[in-house]
Formats: sequence, C-alpha cells, structure tokens
Amino acid sequence: MKPGVVIDRRYLDHDMGGWHVESPARIETLLRLLEEDPPVPYRAIEPRPAADEELGWVHERGYIDLIRSTSGKTVPLDADTIAGPKTWETALLAAGGFLESLDRVMDGTVPNAFSLVRPPGHHAEASRAMGFCFFNNVAIGAEHLLRRHGLGRVLIVDWDLHHGNGTERTFYERSDVLYFSVHQSPLYPGTGAARFFGHAEGHGYNINVPLLSGKGDADYLQIFEKILAPVAAQFRPEFILVSAGFDVAAGDPLGGMAVTPAGFGRLTASLMAMAEAAAKGRLALVLEGGYDLQALRAGVREVLKALTAKRGSLVKKELPALSASLRLELEEPLRIFRRKWDIPFA
Ligand SMILES: [Zn+2]
Repeated sequence: MKPGVVIDRRYLDHDMGGWHVESPARIETLLRLLEEDPPVPYRAIEPRPAADEELGWVHERGYIDLIRSTSGKTVPLDADTIAGPKTWETALLAAGGFLESLDRVMDGTVPNAFSLVRPPGHHAEASRAMGFCFFNNVAIGAEHLLRRHGLGRVLIVDWDLHHGNGTERTFYERSDVLYFSVHQSPLYPGTGAARFFGHAEGHGYNINVPLLSGKGDADYLQIFEKILAPVAAQFRPEFILVSAGFDVAAGDPLGGMAVTPAGFGRLTASLMAMAEAAAKGRLALVLEGGYDLQALRAGVREVLKALTAKRGSLVKKELPALSASLRLELEEPLRIFRRKWDIPFA
C-alpha cells in the first residue's frame, strides 16, 4: 500500500522574509522532489483548513483570534516568528492537512502518512507563537485521535533537533498522550531536561532525552531501540505521531547533529515496527524543522522509502554498541525513566 502524503503549493504562502531559514523554499524543494523524482508511489492527500474548534483543543480562544487578526498584515510575534499576510491561512492548512492524513490512516485509505507542511508546530504553546511555530500541529493531531476517533493512547515521538516545549506543556499532566523527545541540549528553547518527566496523572508520560551535539545514526537508533521501544511496548499506543525535524541532519545550519538520509530511513523503520507491534501499524509523521535544503530533501526521500516497506518485513539490522560517551550521557536520564518504565538494557 502506498503511504499518504500531504503537500500543497499553498504551504509556500507563509513567508517570514528572505533572510529566514524557515522559508517557502523548504516546501518548494519537496514539491520538486515529488513532482520530478518521486522516490516511491504515494497517495496524495488534499489538505483542508483546521476549524476553530480543532485549534481550540490546544490553543486559547484569544490566541486563535490574535493569529486570525494578523491576516493581511505583517506582525512580529517573537524575534524570529513573524505572522505575514497569509500566515493564518497557511497555518490552518498545516494543522488541517495533518488531521486529514490521520483520518486517512484511521479509515484505512493509507497505512501511514507524512504531512509535508509548514509552518511547523511543536514550539507553539496554548497562547504563544514561538520558534517559527503558530499552531501545534502534532498536539492538535493527538487530540483529534482521542476526541474524534475515540482512541485512548497516543505516542508522540519528536526527533526534531529542538525540544518541543509546546507539545510537552500540552500533555504534561496527562497519561493518554506520551511525549518522547530526543533533542540537542543546550539549545533553543532551553526546555527539555530529563527531570521534567510529567506531573500528577502525567508522571512518567513525558520523556526527554537531551543530547550533546555530535550524535549520529547509531546514537539515535540506540535510543529508539533501547529506550523508546520498551516504553512503547508498555504504553501500547494506538497511534504513533512523529514530529519529524530534519534539523538533526548533518549539515543543518542550526544544529550540531549528524543524522544521514539512511539514518532517517532506519529511524522510520524502527517506529514502524513499534507501530506494528501495538498500533496496527498506524504511524503519521509531520514535518517540523530542517533547514539545509539538500539534507531535507534527502531525508524526506528516505523516510518515504521506509514507509513503503512491507508490513512485518522490517528486518532488524544489528545495532552497533552504545558508545561510551552516550552511555554516560544517558545514565541520569535512565535513572529517571526507570522510575516508571522497565528499560532493561545496561
Ligand atoms: Zn527544530
């Protein structure tokens, strides 16, 4: 079965200025990839604008109205997050496009999906635009699955370079959405320490894996296979959502990580196996960061290829041994995670 893909020329309409790394060229590059050189056959999913009610699951009414009021104008919301004349419409289409992809996975039209949308979302908080983000696409998506599709447990995996502070805050006191973030630290936005492990009902359901720069494919795979996989097996999500940032790619101007295109493919395969095991294969990715256009294109290509791998045919390649430095970095986080989850590896 072909994966679903959300992409649309209207995602070019949000423009924060020629100097800005979160530029329309990101989607233009991906449109060109899919038009001229599609890596795999896919099913195009037509985006729709998100409704006020859907935004309201995550964002405050006054904030939604504030973003609406920027329509037709240019309004800086923070140092590097600028609403332009078409930002409101584009942001609605980003969130709505992702929701549409979830509906297509739920109704069986596609086995999994990748939403190539902008603006990104994971920094957006209930009443605050920040870090190039206006509405929190992935958080709205999780609410959609719980409220409209009646699911009980959703796992959000965030492999973007940056910590998804907005997603964390949305679900920090809840156990129906488990947020798992791997991110470079220290780095913007400064949140994401391992000790922030969720609160009250949500204790244990917010897992932050902060990493020093310089990590590559093997490190990320180790974290997915040795930490995330056992947590996912215990949490038993009914759907896995992914904040897919390609700013962890080697060469990204904002990051210091070195994930290769093949690495993105293997991370996707790893998540597919987790989705197969617990969630009937349901997996949907949404684009977050990624600012080197070549690396973005190459990474998205490998993710799409991985998404077409046959169900149950994901062969586990041998994992390289955990590096001594990663082992050291993970020591304290693992002590925290093990208060709630059984994570067997030494
Ligand atoms: Zn990022």
